This record gives sequence, structure tokens and C-alpha cells, in this order.
Amino acid sequence: MACALLLCISTAAPAQYNKPFESGEPAKMVEARQKMVKWLKRAVKGITPEVLNAFNTVPRHKFMHSRDKGIAYKNKWKSIGFGQTITNPWMVAYMTHLLDVAPTSRVLEIGTGSGYQSSILAQLSNHVHSVEIVRPLAERTHKIQEALGYTAKIKHKIGDGYFGWQENGPYDRIMVTCAADHIPVPLIQQLKPGGLMLIPVGGHFQRGNIYLVTKQDDGSIRRKVVATGTFVPMRRADISKKR
Ligand code: SAH
Repeated sequence: MACALLLCISTAAPAQYNKPFESGEPAKMVEARQKMVKWLKRAVKGITPEVLNAFNTVPRHKFMHSRDKGIAYKNKWKSIGFGQTITNPWMVAYMTHLLDVAPTSRVLEIGTGSGYQSSILAQLSNHVHSVEIVRPLAERTHKIQEALGYTAKIKHKIGDGYFGWQENGPYDRIMVTCAADHIPVPLIQQLKPGGLMLIPVGGHFQRGNIYLVTKQDDGSIRRKVVATGTFVPMRRADISKKR
């Protein structure tokens, strides 16, 4: 049932976004995070200093239940309520690394969840968009990201991410953090030629393939399996309305 994990470090992010996390944090949290980053440097081959810097900056413990804060910097996925999970740091780091985000990249994430992944992406790009289908979870996460100073860099939408977020597209990069049973056509349409998308495809709570999808100049796509993993399923809007 594990979701993906990731970590990074960014020199590209404006200094003001780093400040909220540098002040008032217990030293043991800072140390635990630095230890995680050291581990990620070894565990994710080729991970860049920018990505590592993002992981060193974003306080993962703030996106978790207070009872789990002691293990926030271990390589563990955890429940965040509403039947959803925060992905483990390795998966977040690996997927962030593969997505190859630049400060100018327009990025779309499907599955805001805890907000940890989109906060990492916001250290790397100034144009992050994130869609979440579970309204109360999305509203809680938006408040956390606002308190941490991320809302200037992340635009949020509550809705069915199967359809992407057309008004703000097309995107250079799309990261899907829930498992679909196929690659949604609207997401392919909203990817720019030359763009990259990472998407887990698999059955409900079963291990599935994570595809790296590249869009060619003629609009066709190429895809290759870059990892396997277990992600929470992509829900559809009609299901969520019954909640
Ligand atoms: N990126 C998240 C991982 C979240 S787990 C993080 O950093 O913590 C996947 C998330 O996808 C869950 O919050 C789930 O509610 C959401 N989700 C599932 N189906 C969705 C859909 N159709 N559209 C948008 N979000 C969806």
C-alpha cells in the first residue's frame, strides 16, 4: 500500500521560501532531515544537488500526523487520514529526480495528498499546479502549505485529476501520484511536445508499473517502465461525490 517517496535540494528556489523552515525547528528534526538527505544521495543514483536541497529544505514532519513526527525522516509511507498516504521519501526523491524539473517548468501534479511532493516540486519550479479529489484533505493541506509560505508557487484545484487542469496547461512536466488503470488521454493532451510525465499504472493497491511518458513533436507518446510501486488508486469524480 506504499505510495511513492522522494527527496531533493534546490539552489534555484528564492531564499524567502527557505526561511520558514530554517527558523523555530527543533534541532533533532533538522538533523534527522540531513541524515535522510545523505542517505538519498546514495540511494538515488545521479540525484542532483538541486533536488537534494529541496529535500533538505521541506519539513516532511509538518505534512504528517503529529504521532508520526518521530519517524518523518525514515523511508516510510504513512497514513494521513481520509484513507490516503504520504509517499515514502525514496519514491518521492526518485520520481522528482526523473521528472527533471527546471525553475521555468510548468508542472502539474495529480494527487496533492499531504502536500509534501508538491512542496518539493515548488522548491524546483515557480509554476506548480496540484489537483486533489478529496476535498477535506485538500483543504487541510492548503492551510499547511499556506502557513509554510508555498501558496505563491503552488496553485491548487479540488477535482478529478483524470481530466488534468486544462486552463493552466499545457505542462512541461506532469507527475501523477495515484495509480490509474490506464494513462488518461486528457493528461497526454495537456503535456507539451518534449514534455515528460510520470504515472503509476496498476490495479487497486496492487504493485504496478511507473511509466515515464515522453511526448514527441508530432504529438505521439513513448513510454517506458522506470520502476514498480504501490500507490493509492486514482478515484473518479462520481465515486468521490458519494463520500
Ligand atoms: N503526492 C502525495 C501523495 C498522495 S497519495 C503526497 O505528497 O503526499 C495520492 C493522492 O491522490 C491521494 O491524496 C488521493 O486522494 C489523490 N487522488 C486519487 N484519485 C485522484 C483523482 N482522480 N484526482 C486527484 N487526486 C486523486
